[in-house]
Amino acid sequence: MSNSIGLYVHIPFCAKKCLYCDFTSYAGVLAKQYVYKDAIIKEMGMRANMIGDKRISTIFIGGGTPSIIDTAVINAIIDEVRKNFHVEQDAEVTIEINPGTVNAKSLTDYRAMGINRLSIGLQAWQDELLKAIGRIHTSAEFVDSYNEARKAGFDNINVDLMFGLPQQTIGQWIHTLQAVVSLGPEHISCYDLQIEEGTRMYKMVADGDIKPLDEDADRLMYKTAVELLGNEGYERYEVSNFAKPGFRCRHNLNYWYNGHYVGLGCAAHSYLNHIRWANMSGLQSYIDTVSDDNIPMDFEEYIDHDTEMFETMMLGLRTSEGVNKKLFEERFGIQLYQRYGHAIDKLSAMGLMCDDESAVKVSDKGMDVLNSVLVEFLP
Ligand code: SF4
Repeated sequence: MSNSIGLYVHIPFCAKKCLYCDFTSYAGVLAKQYVYKDAIIKEMGMRANMIGDKRISTIFIGGGTPSIIDTAVINAIIDEVRKNFHVEQDAEVTIEINPGTVNAKSLTDYRAMGINRLSIGLQAWQDELLKAIGRIHTSAEFVDSYNEARKAGFDNINVDLMFGLPQQTIGQWIHTLQAVVSLGPEHISCYDLQIEEGTRMYKMVADGDIKPLDEDADRLMYKTAVELLGNEGYERYEVSNFAKPGFRCRHNLNYWYNGHYVGLGCAAHSYLNHIRWANMSGLQSYIDTVSDDNIPMDFEEYIDHDTEMFETMMLGLRTSEGVNKKLFEERFGIQLYQRYGHAIDKLSAMGLMCDDESAVKVSDKGMDVLNSVLVEFLP
């Protein structure tokens, strides 16, 4: 395996909680950003031994809404990462932002810190839909933020979109895709809304206040995205991710190739040296634990050989490149076909999988029923 890893930094602050959100994010506690930054920097010291001489090839500052905190906090964190670890010269450094929470100054600051990729959470073009899912911004604010980002020199921008929203029509979805494409971002992510237990939207559905979109409409939206974006030169390189050539997200590709990564901050996950662990998700408990010089661990587990193989398949098959046979054999000491031949033959016969010389991939037809494909690889 390569000696480089991805580094994720979780910034759990938001202006307001979106109705569908089940991420670890907190509204109304922005004042804690400075002690949180101190805790992140302290955690970095605690993880330094584990990271050792591994090089950092990607940094992803996610959330939450990292763009609502002081840019000096982001700067201090990135500075400390560079001081503590070997960050590769051409590292991909991404920050997630929300429309309306950046300006010319903050974007220029980000550039000066070496941030070279922006991920903007738009979700939908129609303001009535944005309001209905609890977003804080309008599409006009998105366009302003996007244009400011271009002016500041960002030439690698992702736009996050969501489909399958209650009340969303196929016409609105097509309009969203077309409007975004006309701006020409390098990367577009299209996520299918999941209404998770514990969210306000879940309760609204349970109370009968809103009705989830039916499955057929949802599938049609996904297919439309694949077709429309494909025609516009965006390759689907992972189930939900589309990029112009040369702009695939390296940080996320590392997850899908089951590579190593370390996450800092509350609720952040890591996977290194056969251990997967998660940090505690409570903001205050994370801060208190780290301040008391304790590791902010929620859980850790050992990933055995068989599990690692299965996870490599499960993640790699989400991508258009699939699982590379040579890399699989080098990593696990067994040929891919020898281990999974039965599943590959069965799925290939059904037209759900392609088995070529260098890799095993899920076909377009298989991508539509990905979960049932992956089940075949269960240990
Ligand atoms: S902006 Fe993102 S992280 Fe924050 S509440 Fe909305 S969905 Fe959750």
